[in-house]
Amino acid sequence: MLSRFDYIRPQVLEDALAFLGENTGTKILAGGTDLMVMLRRNAEMPEHILDIKSIPETKQLEYKPGSGLFIGASITVNQVAEAEAIQKRYAALVQGANSLASYQLRNRATLVGNICNASPGADLAAPLLVYEATVHIAGSRGTRQVAIDQFFTGVKKTVLQPDEMVLGISLPDVGPGDDSIFLKQARIKGHDLGIVGVAARRTAANTYLVAMSAVAPTPIRLTKLEEMLNSQGVTAELAVLAGEKARSLIKPISDVRSSAEYRLHISGILVKRALMQLLVIGGK
Ligand SMILES: Cc1cc2nc3c(=O)[nH]c(=O)nc-3n(C[C@H](O)[C@H](O)[C@H](O)COP(=O)(O)OP(=O)(O)OC[C@H]3O[C@@H](n4cnc5c(N)ncnc54)[C@H](O)[C@@H]3O)c2cc1C
Repeated sequence: MLSRFDYIRPQVLEDALAFLGENTGTKILAGGTDLMVMLRRNAEMPEHILDIKSIPETKQLEYKPGSGLFIGASITVNQVAEAEAIQKRYAALVQGANSLASYQLRNRATLVGNICNASPGADLAAPLLVYEATVHIAGSRGTRQVAIDQFFTGVKKTVLQPDEMVLGISLPDVGPGDDSIFLKQARIKGHDLGIVGVAARRTAANTYLVAMSAVAPTPIRLTKLEEMLNSQGVTAELAVLAGEKARSLIKPISDVRSSAEYRLHISGILVKRALMQLLVIGGK
């Protein structure tokens, strides 16, 4: 049975922030696809639930040439997957979005909720990491911006303070020749978090960025692997070595979805495959 809570749906940001400042122990509700599960299990028993979906600033989904993309906190995963401006420029993000759960769930789930829930296996984290996204945070004491690689602090933990909420996430603009890919290994297609997720990006300046989910307490960038790729130049031979290098940089755990051994094995394969596919996309 659900525990009792007050439900608040502010219409303006100022009211939401004032409420958060005055009521610690408030849980923010976006799509509710993570939160409702926790409420039903009584794993979360908040006094107040603050629904952010009427706040105009959270409904913004905008791409501006030169400045890039802003995805507000109420934007659903399907809206991300189906936006033409995102499909044209941010392939890994669209692939990550399309791989999250089922179509019906993606109609409720938000990209920002995926990040705030901070599961190590969150599908949209690795794509956001390779685009070096920025998290826009607002609280009763002001606003701040945090780089996505500084946002996660542990399993289901972030830098967010109790009086803060995420307004949205921005990604820098990318030009022609900037390519990316997201690969996910899951137990059941369309219904489950990944056993492992890999995002790889090659910028127009031929710089590689690689990030993974479900191989550490938080989603991570593999900066040591990136150094190897960017100093040696990616070839098919190096992609094979990169898979092995990736295995040496992660320490996955065993859980209900996979053994640590299988995660290590499949991580190397997905990293190699992602780099190979980027080579093919780039005609190299
Ligand atoms: C059947 C099922 C399958 C799933 N499959 C996948 C999958 O394949 N891949 C995957 O990555 N995830 C999966 N999920 C998890 C979930 O759907 C996603 O994480 C989703 O993106 C969460 O978004 P939401 O809007 O529903 O978040 P909510 O449930 O509304 O919120 C999630 C958490 O973030 C907090 N929060 C939300 N928005 C904000 C904000 N703006 N500021 C501060 N805190 C905020 C909430 O308080 C809560 O703690 C699955 C869930 C279910 C039930």
